[in-house]
Amino acid sequence: MSEVFDTLMNEVRRTFAATPALQAFCELPDQLETQPVTPAHIPAATLMQTDDELFSPDYSGLRDAFIAASDKAEWRETYKGTRIGEEFRQRFACYCLIGPGGPFMAEKMGAYVVYMPKGLYYPFHHHPAEELYFVIAGEAEFLMEGKEPQTLGPGSHVFHPSNRPHATQTHDHPFMAMVLWRGDMTVSPLLTYPNGDA
Ligand code: FE
Repeated sequence: MSEVFDTLMNEVRRTFAATPALQAFCELPDQLETQPVTPAHIPAATLMQTDDELFSPDYSGLRDAFIAASDKAEWRETYKGTRIGEEFRQRFACYCLIGPGGPFMAEKMGAYVVYMPKGLYYPFHHHPAEELYFVIAGEAEFLMEGKEPQTLGPGSHVFHPSNRPHATQTHDHPFMAMVLWRGDMTVSPLLTYPNGDA
């Protein structure tokens, strides 16, 4: 187990302890199983590591810990082989902290970091797991079917019910979020409109 993951987990625990919305979404177990991680880099990881516009007045410790651990992480390629554009795959970055492919494992929750540079659209997708996005840095517009779009910055969160299609758009800023899952975590995200958003 790499020390950077322990440092990162300490930051996550600190943030949980200070944030009722995270505690209300899921319990973060005191003891987590650990598992080996095979580091896998993707080009978008470099974008996150070098982005100097990830403003975060209150969560810079958590932001920096996710960046510091990122060279040891197995970056995901969730949308490889789908109709999603090559440009998106080159710029959208995500790795797991708690769950499959991550350094820690828990039975009832998962945790990921997601990064998008400015000016990127993450098309509508859905999954059985319930999801909470907690914005760590920057700013993004969150879209969800049946709800008005909302623009959120550091310290804000948005909840996505099971299988409810949702999308993310960055405009003038990049953003980084901690994404929590609960419920049925066995199914990966699927694009809601495989032939393109309406
Ligand atoms: Fe999602």
